[in-house]
Amino acid sequence: MEVDILAIAAHPDDVEITCGGTVIKMVEAGYRVGILDLTAGETGTRGSAALRKKEARRAAQTLGVVYRENLHIPDAGVENTRANKLKIAQKIRNLRPRTVILPYWQGRHPDHYTTGRIGYEACFLAGLAKLPLKGKPHRPFKIIYASQYVPTVRPTFVVDITEQFDRKLKAIFCFASQFSPPKEMQNLFPSRADIHARMGSEARHFGHMIGVRYGEPFVTRETAAVDDIVKMPVKSV
Ligand SMILES: [Zn+2]
Repeated sequence: MEVDILAIAAHPDDVEITCGGTVIKMVEAGYRVGILDLTAGETGTRGSAALRKKEARRAAQTLGVVYRENLHIPDAGVENTRANKLKIAQKIRNLRPRTVILPYWQGRHPDHYTTGRIGYEACFLAGLAKLPLKGKPHRPFKIIYASQYVPTVRPTFVVDITEQFDRKLKAIFCFASQFSPPKEMQNLFPSRADIHARMGSEARHFGHMIGVRYGEPFVTRETAAVDDIVKMPVKSV
């Protein structure tokens, strides 16, 4: 099993929320996309790990990805260890993606920013021949960081997901245990309507930055190259 694009995230539903529209768009463009979740989200107050597993499978079908696996690193315990990095690096070698999507390397939740950091290091390690890993060395060509969880960061680029937004929401709502809490918990956790509104306003905000209805933000560490300055998108004035 090989993929063109691999999205790596800390918890089941992170990919759907931060880059689900982009994943759908790339699947529609004909690319093979995979998802690697590092934890099963078992410390979350809502929903058991077994339920979230089932939800993750349904969401993967909605996105149209060809691969989704969970590394079962302890939830709320994603740590920058050699063992964790080698586990991820092994998957990168097996799947041989050209592009990897990681969570942005700063933020509120330690699992998110740690995944961004160890994901990057795993991409590097996967290309080293002498490590105790199976298969041929492989290093992804491109790493992009999904930055929606850190809306104060100015994105390097935004993907137009106007056509994919409804299906992105459908994929998010596959995780019903996270968004439809029992009545007594409704004050503690966001309701479906809250999530719908938040996803909509965030996607509108980022879409506005490139002159479209809905968008998803990404950051790259390296500078983008341009060949034709006449065909550059996004209006200046
Ligand atoms: Zn998360």
